[in-house]
Amino acid sequence: MQHHGVAAWPRDDQSPLQPLAHDLEVDSCVVGLGGSGLAAVHALLDLGQRVAAIDSIGIAPGAAGRNGGFLLAGTAAFHHDAVAALGRERATALYRQTLGELDAFEADTPDVVIRRGSLRIASDGAELADCIRQFEAMRHDALPVERYEGPEGEGLLFPFDGVFNPGWRCDVLAARAIARGALLHAPTHADAILPGEVQTGPHRIRCRHVLVLVDGGLTRIFPQLTGVVRTARLQMVATAPTGQRTWSRPVYYRHGYEYWQQLEDTSIVVGGFRDAGGEPEWTEHAGPGDAVQARLDAFVRDHLRVEVPITHRWAASVGFTSGVLPFVGGVGEGVWAAGGYNGTGNMIGAICGRGIAELAVTGDSETLRHLRD
Ligand SMILES: Cc1cc2nc3c(=O)[nH]c(=O)nc-3n(C[C@H](O)[C@H](O)[C@H](O)COP(=O)(O)OP(=O)(O)OC[C@H]3O[C@@H](n4cnc5c(N)ncnc54)[C@H](O)[C@@H]3O)c2cc1C
Repeated sequence: MQHHGVAAWPRDDQSPLQPLAHDLEVDSCVVGLGGSGLAAVHALLDLGQRVAAIDSIGIAPGAAGRNGGFLLAGTAAFHHDAVAALGRERATALYRQTLGELDAFEADTPDVVIRRGSLRIASDGAELADCIRQFEAMRHDALPVERYEGPEGEGLLFPFDGVFNPGWRCDVLAARAIARGALLHAPTHADAILPGEVQTGPHRIRCRHVLVLVDGGLTRIFPQLTGVVRTARLQMVATAPTGQRTWSRPVYYRHGYEYWQQLEDTSIVVGGFRDAGGEPEWTEHAGPGDAVQARLDAFVRDHLRVEVPITHRWAASVGFTSGVLPFVGGVGEGVWAAGGYNGTGNMIGAICGRGIAELAVTGDSETLRHLRD
């Protein structure tokens, strides 16, 4: 049986949320219960805020619960490209910050994080040369990297990277937030976001700070960010268990356009081909599309040489910016937003969620020092 539109990740027993059925008055309201929004909720609680948080659907129903599960240090750009875009000092500091975030993820939710490193495998000679440039830049900046050659091909090994079950972590963070006193409501859609108020159906959440942690679809809420952030669809498939362990580490291939990992039950989750899908992938539609799915099928069969059936096909929305950094900042009086993690928001999104909470409440954020101009 094939699950269309359903991610393969097993989920924790979700904390059953209720839609908001009355007005609320709190200090801060977070819109979006993905990994970034939940990081913001906890940071706001740490800062002593009374917090409400809402999601149109539930806990991590979008990219945060339906992604590839890679925990890669650095930004979406490989280190040498990040150095070219941001300067050596800033790119290196950001890389170190994400390594620290990885440690924090592991310490915080050890049951859902596995750290055996990750591989970047070159798809051709030109990419191998690019791997070597990345290796040299990382070694120059004393960042952890090794040259790699193995059954997957040739490229680089990042020994401290990891993988996790993304939705499960969000389920855990949501349950903890509720236990700490945060008011989580879903399905509850933010119809309008105004200074000091979030409108949802007939109800109002009155608050001093509104934090919008929506990665894909950010311009639906803030049309003024059109041209700053653009929404794309990323697609994945999962296979039945293969019955044998072939890959012990997650693999990033063809500049990261394709990526896969083998789960504990020996099934494989594989994503990619956004570029091959062309213009139709710049969409807010978050369901799987035939053209990219067909490319994923062929990749599983011909490149990975996996012959067990595909069991799951799914997609979700993410935000892209035109540069290396996400958008993170103010979008109105007391209204803050972050998104545009360029397809790798598991850690940068959490950093931005925490940072924007600090920025909103204290007016400054050490966490965002390297992420904001
Ligand atoms: C297929 C795929 C594979 C990926 N693989 C990786 C990977 O391996 N590693 C990695 O680091 N990143 C990966 N990413 C990117 C990563 O998943 C995202 O960058 C990250 O999850 C963004 O999390 P978020 O919490 O900011 O946003 P989201 O998960 O998009 O959450 C935003 C939430 O806001 C809610 N919402 C939106 N509008 C409203 C509204 N008006 N009112 C109320 N709620 C609203 C949505 O329902 C949603 O739950 C992948 C993404 C996809 C789609």
